[in-house]
Amino acid sequence: MTVLRVAQMIPDTEAEGPGRRFALWVQGCTLRCPGCCNPEMFAPDRGGEILQAAHLAQRVLETPGIEGLSVLGGEPFEQPRAVAEVCRAVRAGGRSVMVYSGYTLEELRAMRSDEVEALLQEIDLLADGRYEQGNPERRRRWLGSANQRLHFFSARYREDDPRFFLPNTVELRLAGGKLTINGWPAAADAFRRR
Ligand code: SF4
Repeated sequence: MTVLRVAQMIPDTEAEGPGRRFALWVQGCTLRCPGCCNPEMFAPDRGGEILQAAHLAQRVLETPGIEGLSVLGGEPFEQPRAVAEVCRAVRAGGRSVMVYSGYTLEELRAMRSDEVEALLQEIDLLADGRYEQGNPERRRRWLGSANQRLHFFSARYREDDPRFFLPNTVELRLAGGKLTINGWPAAADAFRRR
């Protein structure tokens, strides 16, 4: 039984990658980028839930109308075996997988880890690289800083997909007295002007 430390889930969002997606934030990240918007997800044992990878994948596949799964963090490659198991099952069920990592693809490959490679094999679209607070991305959708890159590992997504050129979106949800905000503001200045 493979388990995964999960910080947060949003079963149906249009703000974390192409189309309607199940967004899964994993718990734990040792990279600690200054200005990270999810510092509560740094510690591996702080809050969140421990879930079985197989159950989580089933939950994704049973969510109607979604195009795929986006895995964010926290750092997905700090739990590669469990994340790979979820992603493998999601793809076997016909849905796509997008993963955000603070590691660059070169750093991941240099780890020479079978588990890391196994996770890379289950990704259609990888967003890589640390978040750089002083280097905000102002043009490309779904990326936080200009150093980060998108890697298209399968034919499911193409760089010229028109959805990649639309403005970023932010979603606000109020449920059970808790407000959650996810997505990317169109520009770093968008909220300051209001
Ligand atoms: S890699 Fe991602 S989750 Fe980790 S500190 Fe950097 S921005 Fe935050």
